[in-house]
Amino acid sequence: MTTPAPTSPPTPVSTLQAEAFAAGTLPPVEQVRDGVWTLAIPFAAGIPDSTLTYVLEAADGSLVVVDPGWGTEPTLAVLRDGLATIGRTLDDVGLVAVTHLHVDHLGAAAAVRNASGARIAMHPAEARAIRHQDEDRRRDDEDIARWGVPEPLRAGLVRAWGTGRRLPDVEADLLVEDGDVLPVAGRELRALWTPGHTTGHLCFVDAPDGLLFTGDHVLPRINSGLGLGGRTDTNPLEDYLASLDRLADLAELEVCPGHEYRFRDVRARAATLADHRRERGEHVAAALDTLDRPTLFEVAAHVPFRGGIASMTGYLLASALAQTAFHARLLGRSDEIRPA
Ligand SMILES: [Zn+2]
Repeated sequence: MTTPAPTSPPTPVSTLQAEAFAAGTLPPVEQVRDGVWTLAIPFAAGIPDSTLTYVLEAADGSLVVVDPGWGTEPTLAVLRDGLATIGRTLDDVGLVAVTHLHVDHLGAAAAVRNASGARIAMHPAEARAIRHQDEDRRRDDEDIARWGVPEPLRAGLVRAWGTGRRLPDVEADLLVEDGDVLPVAGRELRALWTPGHTTGHLCFVDAPDGLLFTGDHVLPRINSGLGLGGRTDTNPLEDYLASLDRLADLAELEVCPGHEYRFRDVRARAATLADHRRERGEHVAAALDTLDRPTLFEVAAHVPFRGGIASMTGYLLASALAQTAFHARLLGRSDEIRPA
């Protein structure tokens, strides 16, 4: 088994954000370029967790907001205050562009639309996942039943991952496909479809400004989970690795992620993330070599997830189990796992 060379996290472009991240505080509003700002919106449960929201000014004076963050009243107040810092209000927003359907990115979209009449843009796969969520969650329940999870943990999985889970119920105004340029006066914001974290995850490329908005596809320190929105017949792990490859030509751009801090050299970070997955794959292969007709839960118990799956419940445990299944499938060894 090979262990990849230890790699340090990418160097921050924004020391303000990196310092706030290290201290567990909310970074201040920061100007990124002429007419481009970033503000941090806390999670509903509060800091230290926050989403990095980006605000871009169009030639007609309207604003584009990339990922407005969580949509509770206190988090919306932070968004309003952030806009006030740059002399703007929610009324000025003409377009909300979302990288993906998670509540920490899409949550405030409907409230922003209500306040301003802004259009909400997302990939069709995200719109579909929102529409089909009831059906998808029923099938997630069926997965959970097959995973071989000890009985006392199962109800928690159904609550967090199966029929107990709800995506923000937001209808899209504008469906954005791979390669589409967003309708923003005087700006060239191109969508790059990067499935993996969710099936319709988008990055946005602002080549003239040298910026790459990566949502949760690539973050400087966190390894994003996979297959966390919208069921797909493809393997989210395979999709994710292919989506990492799509960033190879964008190494010159400054990375504007959905969390943590801005950084450079997306290619090096993508290589580290791909190495991490290769290593996971080796652990899953080793578990399958060792165990005789294991359940998925038994395989996952042999994978060194942070803290080990014995320490996990709910969403985290479900995500670890789903990842294990994606790895087995990529190895072509799904049929060695015994459905419970
Ligand atoms: Zn996120």
